[in-house]
Amino acid sequence: MKVNYKTYNLPFTHPFTISKGTKTHQPTLIVELEFMGIKGYGEAPAISYYNIPVEKMVEDLERKRIFIEKYAFNEPERYWHYLHHLFPANPFLVCALDMAAWDIYGKLKRKQLHQLWNLDTAKSPVTDFTIGIDTIENMVAKMKEKSWPIYKIKVGVDNDIEMVAALRKHTDAIFRVDANAGWSLEQALQKIPLLKELGVEMVEQPLAKDNWDGMKILFERSVLPLYADEACVFEDDVEKCHQHFHGINIKLTKCSGITPARRMITKARELNMEVMVGCMNESSVGTAAIAQLAPLLDKVDMDGPLLLSEDIAEGVQFDNGKLIYNEWPGLGIKLNW
Ligand code: MG
Repeated sequence: MKVNYKTYNLPFTHPFTISKGTKTHQPTLIVELEFMGIKGYGEAPAISYYNIPVEKMVEDLERKRIFIEKYAFNEPERYWHYLHHLFPANPFLVCALDMAAWDIYGKLKRKQLHQLWNLDTAKSPVTDFTIGIDTIENMVAKMKEKSWPIYKIKVGVDNDIEMVAALRKHTDAIFRVDANAGWSLEQALQKIPLLKELGVEMVEQPLAKDNWDGMKILFERSVLPLYADEACVFEDDVEKCHQHFHGINIKLTKCSGITPARRMITKARELNMEVMVGCMNESSVGTAAIAQLAPLLDKVDMDGPLLLSEDIAEGVQFDNGKLIYNEWPGLGIKLNW
């Protein structure tokens, strides 16, 4: 197994603001693994909230490069276990390497992963398109710029309801909101019924990630389904979210790859919970990995390539939110590097 990588700082089309801050660029790591002449690719974007910058991913990769390269690869799940023990404090790097290993695995079998897993892509949900926090005027303009069937609106500021009401005047599209842990219990109890009246279908991470007591109360009283994002990072968190959230938003980067994400989906289904996979503004590389899991999901948020003004690869395409798969094996990507 040979390993190579590149780092990028991909620009957003518009500065992207959530309740935790604004960014104009998305730093990301792309890794390339080569096994028996076949190259596979994986991605891990850096999110400051999770405190693993791209430099830390590169440093860890270089420090243990020899251990990544000497591994006798046979199948991705075993490789993930090896990586998980090699980099216990760097799930983002594990994600990028796990994704690359799955890409190779699919290419060796000459199939896309969803085909190897016998999934029906007709069941893949339509992806939403995210509207970041901005002035109401700019949010309306951004929404009009991209006509879409489902919008995920970032909230968690004082004028949330006013923002959503203003957007509602211009579209009948489905709305989801993501508070990114920005509300208190009292605010959530007050805002959620108003958002329901505005045609919002679900709320992501209303309260602080460790406010389990608040979530228990909100779970019992909320008129909208609640999805965990910041509160559901690793596999062990799925069980914790049961009876506190109606669903979970899995992200490949935070949970450490495709391998644990598949187990999290299985666990959530056992607990009768809804499942979404979200993105961290990945390029078409990481987005293609989400597309492989999409037939297993209730909801998907994979608009990274739509929010960024530069891309690294060609991969899954979108037709008004519907995923259009290609015929390329593995993750279904072609890299331009
Ligand atoms: Mg979120």
